[in-house]
Amino acid sequence: MHSLKNDVIPVPLLDVSRSNEVLRDEVLAALAEVYDSGRFLYGPQVNELEQAVAQLCHTKHAVGCASGSDALLLALMAIGIEAGDEVIVPSFTFFATASCVDRLGAKIVFADIDPKTYNICVKDIERKITSKTRAIIPVHLFGQSAAMDAICKLANNHDIPVIEDAAQAIGAAYHGRPVCSWGQIGCISFYPTKNLGGFGDGGMLAVENDVLADRLRLLSAHGMRPRYHHSEVGINSRLDTFQAAALVVKMKHLNAYNAARQENACRYYELFEQAGLNANSEGGSIGMPYRDPAAHHVWNQFSIRVPGGQRDALRAYLSEQSIGSEIYYPIPLHQQVCFSHCGYAPGDLPESERAAKEILNLPIFPELTATEQQRVVDGIATFCRSANKQVPSKAVA
Ligand SMILES: *Cc1c(COP(=O)(O)O)cnc(C)c1O
Repeated sequence: MHSLKNDVIPVPLLDVSRSNEVLRDEVLAALAEVYDSGRFLYGPQVNELEQAVAQLCHTKHAVGCASGSDALLLALMAIGIEAGDEVIVPSFTFFATASCVDRLGAKIVFADIDPKTYNICVKDIERKITSKTRAIIPVHLFGQSAAMDAICKLANNHDIPVIEDAAQAIGAAYHGRPVCSWGQIGCISFYPTKNLGGFGDGGMLAVENDVLADRLRLLSAHGMRPRYHHSEVGINSRLDTFQAAALVVKMKHLNAYNAARQENACRYYELFEQAGLNANSEGGSIGMPYRDPAAHHVWNQFSIRVPGGQRDALRAYLSEQSIGSEIYYPIPLHQQVCFSHCGYAPGDLPESERAAKEILNLPIFPELTATEQQRVVDGIATFCRSANKQVPSKAVA
């Protein structure tokens, strides 16, 4: 075992160069075109990408911006969120889902998650709606849509706008309907680790309503119209033409990337089953990700559950074997120091807290090979066998 480390090829958690290398000439040519044009902002490639994203999301408009985080902030600004308002967000998500609420002086109301999907729990949203609730932000975590039919029905009954955080889920759908087309506004990120990963920061807003689309454009450009006339305080958040030009090239391959992620996910289910690790099979100990039958899942992450306090030891073991893994997310947002003023105590959102202790994210990027996946599963199997020897299993106890 000890000598293995030096012989084996590492399995990276993510290797963006594998998809980018294939497109090198095409992307560099697209960048050169922008270079020569001198139109570094508002170039035609921005519009081209916006149209492609709007088409994918089945929305009338899409508006480029500087990041997924800015997309969320702009969405809340566009629907008029301000001090005193309450916005319901899941606690088990990336920071940006909640920071936009705080930044506008509004109150973050954290909801717990459904332990199966890791997405926001609809019943908990219902419990937390008050007369001050002005928005709900479901997150399509790891590439799987939240329960948008139930969430939108609940929100419509209370006349509350829904902002979709689709940063991890471009190309995903629920009941055959694309994410970003369910709520009033959908927020997309082109951060390099996302399913449509750019070459730096970038984001986009998908929106059906003409007035909202126009407001988003205004707010993303200093609230300025016409030039040097400011009707309100906007921000400066644009998608660079360079980013857009490169993304136009990659966008053509998005369906293939997502299909490859789905294939990799299916292979993991088979390999875990074969290794007897799947907690649903006899004696298994690893919790496989739950696939909502209504969801078209695009697998930004493949997340297993490692119960029994073994998660960190497994991660350390995999790291020793040069197998990449990551913890998304180790601390639920209601327990972050900067959100202590929100007034949550340990135990308030038990499923978010449990997920943070048990979750482990494995490599799932499109170009990951079957051999690499076998290595990942073999590594986990070896760890589980040695862990079972040390700790009496349930069957023995
Ligand atoms: C990545 C991400 C964001 C932020 O996107 P950036 O482009 O990095 O600003 C927001 N929400 C979720 C759930 C994310 O995963």
